[in-house]
Amino acid sequence: AERTDKKAYEEAQKRLKMAEDDQRNMLPELRKHSRWEYLKKREAEKLEDLEAEIIDEEYLFATDELTEREKRDLEYKRTLRDLAKDYKKAGAKEQEERKNRYYMPAEKRRKVPQRDLELEETPMELGGEQGRWEEERLKTASLSFGAKKEREQGMRQEQEKYQLILEEDEMIDFVSTDQDTPALSQAELKKQSMQEVRRSLPIFPYREDLLAAIHEHQILVIEGETGSGKTTQIPQYLLEDGYTKGGMKIGCTQPRRVAAMSVAARVAEEMSVKLGNEVGYSIRFEDCTSERTVLKYMTDGMLLREFLTEPDLASYSVIIIDEAHERTLHTDILFGLIKDIARFRSDLKVLVASATLDTERFSCFFDDAPVFRIPGRRFPVDIYYTKNKIYCYKEQVLIMHPSSCCTFVLQEEIEACCELLQERCRRLGSKIAELLVLPIYANLPSDMQAKIFNPTPPGARKVVVATNIAETSLTIDGIIYVIDPGFCKQKSYNARTGMESLIVTPCSRASANQRAGRAGRVAAGKCFRLYTAWAFKHEMEETTVPEIQRTNLGNVVLLLKSLGINDLIHFDFMDPPPHETLVLALEQLYALGALNHLGELTKLGRRMAELPVDPMLSKMILASEQYKCSEEVLTIAAMLSVNNSIFYRPKDKVVHADNARMNFVVPGGDHLVLLNVYTQWVESGYSTQWCYENFIQFRSMRRARDVRDQLEGLMDRIEVEVVSSQGDSIPIRKAVTAGYFYHTARLSKGGYKTVKHQQTVYVHPNSSLFEEQPRWLIYHELVFTTKEFMRQVIEIESGWLLEVAPHYYKSKE
Ligand code: ADP
Ligand code: MG
Repeated sequence: AERTDKKAYEEAQKRLKMAEDDQRNMLPELRKHSRWEYLKKREAEKLEDLEAEIIDEEYLFATDELTEREKRDLEYKRTLRDLAKDYKKAGAKEQEERKNRYYMPAEKRRKVPQRDLELEETPMELGGEQGRWEEERLKTASLSFGAKKEREQGMRQEQEKYQLILEEDEMIDFVSTDQDTPALSQAELKKQSMQEVRRSLPIFPYREDLLAAIHEHQILVIEGETGSGKTTQIPQYLLEDGYTKGGMKIGCTQPRRVAAMSVAARVAEEMSVKLGNEVGYSIRFEDCTSERTVLKYMTDGMLLREFLTEPDLASYSVIIIDEAHERTLHTDILFGLIKDIARFRSDLKVLVASATLDTERFSCFFDDAPVFRIPGRRFPVDIYYTKNKIYCYKEQVLIMHPSSCCTFVLQEEIEACCELLQERCRRLGSKIAELLVLPIYANLPSDMQAKIFNPTPPGARKVVVATNIAETSLTIDGIIYVIDPGFCKQKSYNARTGMESLIVTPCSRASANQRAGRAGRVAAGKCFRLYTAWAFKHEMEETTVPEIQRTNLGNVVLLLKSLGINDLIHFDFMDPPPHETLVLALEQLYALGALNHLGELTKLGRRMAELPVDPMLSKMILASEQYKCSEEVLTIAAMLSVNNSIFYRPKDKVVHADNARMNFVVPGGDHLVLLNVYTQWVESGYSTQWCYENFIQFRSMRRARDVRDQLEGLMDRIEVEVVSSQGDSIPIRKAVTAGYFYHTARLSKGGYKTVKHQQTVYVHPNSSLFEEQPRWLIYHELVFTTKEFMRQVIEIESGWLLEVAPHYYKSKE
């Protein structure tokens, strides 16, 4: 028995040895297969058991309690262990290699001093700090700064200038938490031709590496500082590398309309082609592409809709999901869908581009896709905090800065903020350097947008008053100062009540850091945070919660259902939405008649999905067919979607503006007022002058007209005839009710309460029904500012509810 055992043992040894050699030789080969993963895993598991056994046996061996055979066994186990260890090591090494494959070697990476994280507990005053900062700068500065004395004099003059501008009580004490400030030359601030600019972008030296990496991998995560050239350059590199052969397209998604438009315009310019030809963009209600378009920038929502007509995106060779870190609802859904089609479309390249945030998560989600890092070009930014809480900020801070700056405000504050600034500048006249005040926000017309990219005339400065669009989506050159009030507007969704509202909240620390980063693009900059260091540390969230977890999902659920994805619970979400939110979305779609009791799409649902608007709005439009008022309802839908920017109310003409607005009031509610405004504008021949005289924003009206045209164009497809109710408001209000019955509020003792959840809500003071107090109302949206306000309300009769949504209202009460 001993002998056969021995033979078997030797046999085993030999096989083991061979296997070992095999594996060594096959290592590179094996790596290509998932079997290798499996082996590694299995060996790793085995290893733990083995170790335990070996330890036990070695003890016995030491105490001489093992038979010969047991000793050989032990030997065998040791060999096996070593082999398994090798496996494990190779596995770890491979993992590491894969992870580091495209990571920049340390020496290539430019060190960026981290100066905004270590907060001092006892902050210093700006004056002293500023002086010291300048001192240090001088020590290391190049000759161009001139003599120290002159410089100091300049400083003093500068300070006097501030005093001139700021009245005593407006002075804000800023404190800085920063220490060292290495000075950097501003020599890079010279004008270059467009091609030179292209070559000077941080991404340029990595062009070949990047293309090779894209060639090698189907899915690649690309990480790079804002402004490094991801959005404008990568699609061009791909085009130059032949990815558009045979008319295949390169698609690049953007979470924001403005970004899609402006970037496409820029790229068309760089390529010297007409926008809409080879390079185009597609955003909701606006398609600027043609048969020839091969580089297509679009909003993430538009690509989602393309799945409806082309479920495998067959006409695309590359999809770039840009600004992935924004984690918008549509981007998150795209992640799941694209990961899925990439499995069977092995020729499709997928690039996930993001600012320097969270890239590990993307890599992880896309089955450990490698990360390609583009080293940023970033100068240090000094961060100043206020000493106390500050509530009023705008113009005083904005005017005192000596060079170009950017501030982040809420969209509805932009107009007022710009006006205030201009007014102040006028008052100060020649006492200050010329100041260009430039707004930038999502619906800004493109001609206005272009202005923020124009170089500033010599001697002048610019103030960019932006919404958080300028955080990462758009890069504005030449910004040295950033003023960050620290707020953003966020959608918030109560999954229990199904109520969605917009809330002004402190932004996240990640956002604040992105904002600050805008100041360090061309030279060392400064960021003034209009909140305390304590608030930054303790009152702000680390990162922004992905939109999918704080929004109504009606829209995407309808879309996914029409793509044939029925099992939403098991959809591959990067971060799944709360279960209740999904259920509620299904429930709402059922109530709207878009799904049947089995959760399947109905004919109505299919038609609803055709319209690129929210399900409720979609339903309202479809209901207008039955009530024979589609003409009017289309106008209302268009006016509602331009979002509260119709009426213009300049500070110095408040009374005139309010009177003008009163003139548009008709009985029944705000929807009908909007309809009235639009109708009169049409009668004026779409006149600009008419808008001006009536304190109506022409740009918003022009946009409403575009939206309306687009929607009307779609009526054919969903077979709705465009007819008018001839001045009768009842059918119109019924159609609104058919879409928005979820948003019903009823007047009771304490004021208005929502019908579904008995929540107290208030009519917005801007509403035409503010003083009317009808018993039953439908609101378009809820906005939480100081209270829960209903914005855009319309009066209805309770009897209509049963008529328009019998299966919803019958079951209640
Ligand atoms: P990233 O996507 O990495 O943030 P971009 O590709 O958007 O970087 O920007 C690269 C460069 O192109 C920046 O210097 C930016 O200023 C410039 N740029 C982008 N869009 C425009 C535009 N519309 N007009 C002028 N310059 C632009
Ligand atoms: Mg970009």
